[in-house]
Amino acid sequence: MGLLSLGTPLPWEEAKNYADYIRHHGIKQFLWIYHKLKDKQNDCLLWGDEVEYMVIAFDEENKNAKLSLRLYEILNELQKEEEAALKNPNSDKMVKTSWKPEYGAYMLEGTPGVPYGGTLKELLQVESNMKYRRQLAAKYMKPNEVPITIASFPRLGCQGQFLEPHYEPKGEASRSLFVPDEIINPHARFPTLTANIRKRRGSKVAINMPIFHDIKTPKPFIDPTIPRNRNLFPEDKEAAEGMALPDHIYMDAMVFGMGCCCLQITFQACNIEEARRLYDQLANIGPIMLALSAAAPIYRGYLSDVDCRWNVIAGSVDDRTKEERGLEPLKNNRFVINKSRYDSIDCYISTDKTFKPEYNDLDLVYDKEICKNLMDNGIDELLARHVAHLFIRDPLVIFKESLEEQNDENVSDHFENIQSTNWQTMRFKPPPPNSNIGWRVEFRSMEIQITDFENAAFAVFIVLLTRAILSYGLNFYIPISKVDENMKMAHRRDAVLSEKFWFRKNVFEKNNIMYDDYVNVDNDNISIQQQNVHNNNNSLDNKSISIEDEYEQMSIDNIINGDGDKFPGLITLINHYLESINIDIESRCILGKYLEFVKKKAKGEIQTTAKWIREFVRSHPKYQQDSVVTQEINYDLMKTIEKIQKGEAETPELLGNFKYFRYILYIYIYNI
Ligand code: ADP
Ligand code: MG
Ligand code: MG
Repeated sequence: MGLLSLGTPLPWEEAKNYADYIRHHGIKQFLWIYHKLKDKQNDCLLWGDEVEYMVIAFDEENKNAKLSLRLYEILNELQKEEEAALKNPNSDKMVKTSWKPEYGAYMLEGTPGVPYGGTLKELLQVESNMKYRRQLAAKYMKPNEVPITIASFPRLGCQGQFLEPHYEPKGEASRSLFVPDEIINPHARFPTLTANIRKRRGSKVAINMPIFHDIKTPKPFIDPTIPRNRNLFPEDKEAAEGMALPDHIYMDAMVFGMGCCCLQITFQACNIEEARRLYDQLANIGPIMLALSAAAPIYRGYLSDVDCRWNVIAGSVDDRTKEERGLEPLKNNRFVINKSRYDSIDCYISTDKTFKPEYNDLDLVYDKEICKNLMDNGIDELLARHVAHLFIRDPLVIFKESLEEQNDENVSDHFENIQSTNWQTMRFKPPPPNSNIGWRVEFRSMEIQITDFENAAFAVFIVLLTRAILSYGLNFYIPISKVDENMKMAHRRDAVLSEKFWFRKNVFEKNNIMYDDYVNVDNDNISIQQQNVHNNNNSLDNKSISIEDEYEQMSIDNIINGDGDKFPGLITLINHYLESINIDIESRCILGKYLEFVKKKAKGEIQTTAKWIREFVRSHPKYQQDSVVTQEINYDLMKTIEKIQKGEAETPELLGNFKYFRYILYIYIYNI
């Protein structure tokens, strides 16, 4: 998307009339792409991370930390650098970073300038690139501003001042009791998206996260800060009429969710089959990584009883009508839909032989006509159902200009309109038309961490896991309803240590074989050689095992580190993979530290970010044990987070001893 690419977005009253038109052309566009590129082979591994930042402005005089609404001022400068580097590809000034706007007018998204390739060397550049990105963003900020990577801003939507500059909450798009529209990215797309979700739904979104009951939190907790008697918009009465639940933190606008920050990883697969396979396998890792990366325990100034942002975002863009939510009989709508557009995936899509139809055990809601159309045009049933499931949704933002006649063979905008507003745990990304990009998958569940080290560790862990999956033909299939149960589990406070997650008992193709003699011939390359890929077309040993016997509940420690008996643990698998590629000692050491970090998180030897934040608040001298995160506590929290991210604070409970280790390693490698 261009910075402020101009267009005229249609209000919902008009946009809804074009929903079928967009769907019709979207499907045509998908079919063109599919048929042109379904046999594309041997694309190399390319991958990239996305890091989302909040711009925090400190007000030292009033001891306040606020969100600075300067997205475009900062982004303009960052994109100037990017453009200059692009124009001058021969200079040594590499295109190291790429920047995009996000939903919040205080947010930035940074990615590597070009995707990483399949070499180990590039895997080792992730952390330094993230550091560089942060420095570059900081360069264009004011002296009192900092780029901070936190999943949710604790005092977003509180009474008092939490925005720089301050605005009163009386915007037409959100109609929120708590946040002004100025908090939304001003590009017309975003306020329109916000308003159209509200209009389609027939009310404001209503997000209720359970309050964390501390010693002095009133029971029941009835939030005294909700302006229940305001009378500015018709929707104002919703809070008093039951939308704001007792014992919950009530939020009524899209920014509470879409204004959260996450860490996403996109991979290019060698062909469409590999992409479909990675999609399925990583879907099962989604909830595990959500729990491990949990970093969002505070909403609208209160400690909540959940650790993750996911359900908040799901609620924040839930455009389903009452009929679609099953609260009224179907009259004007076509489907009762079990989930928000932002949620976990509902079906597996791989045709791999380890897949069994029974794993797709959710009653998939999909557009039967679209599915038939896709199948009549040569798409297999699994993929057809996946696309027909995405296409139960209406397009939310339609630009008037996009309705002009165009050739569906060369564009994908109508397909992308629906695809990119299905925000699920995984995204299966077809290549854009007329590009040399391959079939990709995006891993989307992780929360952002405070430091670049932690974000690099999680990113590298996921990349290496995909290498192990492909090298050893790992099979993580469990019924998809169990993956949904895991998603619920992942939200619970301290889920990493106190909850168990469904996981497959035997992740190997055959019952008794652990690793085969896979060896990567190319020293410095983590692209998987075609001849080494396990395509799982062999006969299965475990056909006789019933599905229920294939999985059990495990702790995250066991899933990541193994149970010391039958289950090897994901890190053991990755270590085996690393041993098979003849990696040099320094690289092995750095990657080993990332893996050790993940290992320690899973064991509880270091805390999740959510736990650390919760403890910070609860041990703050001004905390009244009443769940309230005051302006001053928030200020101190943001100051401490800034120090941690700069390496100026000792927090072994969050980072272990890795800071010290990396310093030693740096001296060792570079001989300085
Ligand atoms: P989205 O906006 O859908 O999340 P983007 O196009 O912004 O996706 O890219 C997301 C990530 O994908 C970035 O980290 C980028 O570096 C990476 N990326 C770009 N091109 C490719 C590719 N061909 N294969 C894999 N990853 C890619
Ligand atoms: Mg983003
Ligand atoms: Mg993304």
